[in-house]
Amino acid sequence: MKLTVDQLTAGYGKAQVLFGLTLEVAEGELVALLGANGAGKTTALRVLSGLIKPWGGQVALDGQSLLGLSAARRARLGLGHVPEGRQLFPLMSVEENLLLGAAFLAWESRAEGLERVYRLFPRLAERRRQLAGTLSGGEQQMLAIGRALMGRPRILMVDEPSLGLSPRLAEEVLATLAQVRAEGVGVLLVEQNVALSLEVADRGYVVEHGRVVLQGQAKELIQNQAVQKAYLAL
Ligand code: ATP
Repeated sequence: MKLTVDQLTAGYGKAQVLFGLTLEVAEGELVALLGANGAGKTTALRVLSGLIKPWGGQVALDGQSLLGLSAARRARLGLGHVPEGRQLFPLMSVEENLLLGAAFLAWESRAEGLERVYRLFPRLAERRRQLAGTLSGGEQQMLAIGRALMGRPRILMVDEPSLGLSPRLAEEVLATLAQVRAEGVGVLLVEQNVALSLEVADRGYVVEHGRVVLQGQAKELIQNQAVQKAYLAL
């Protein structure tokens, strides 16, 4: 499965944020969407998952346009979204939060989903009955990713998973995304932590003012002088 975004424009009221964003993510690859605060990364994910309407351009899964489809319909077609800020239910248990991510699936699929998430995140398995609000920041981020995986996405979009985490935990969370990729899921990772995300990503896009200004293999981007100067402080 492939997610393609072509010449996407969008904004809030009269303020334009996306100015012709073009990118693609295929199953089994980890793609980083990089850029400074306010470049439009979060807005892009919101448009892709159907939370805001674009002004123009195209978003498609395997060539089938997603425009006009609800966020729920897109999730069922295989597009998962882990929003910025995690959006967990702190007074519900880990397992209850996970099950919410699979509410539209049959019971057997939910049990299968739990098994898969607990295999990927053994720490969530140990804490399955614990209230989500009592988990550490890193565990909450894993739970948010786990909940999205419960919907069996083929392409998973993850917004700023390292936000507010210590460098060690941020690394751990990004390493789990590499595992998600190894299971064949395509991952679109939005990050301000450019160095860390290029370490795990296969490819990357650098966004400035709502458009892609640079793209390439992660290995090449790390070596790129403009990237080093603007984002890696080298
Ligand atoms: P961040 O890392 O801070 O999330 P970003 O690259 O994801 O940055 P966006 O959150 O997409 O950037 O924001 C892009 C622009 O859109 C910013 O100028 C921001 O102020 C504006 N913006 C974001 N959300 C809204 C909103 N709900 N209403 C109006 N303007 C918004």
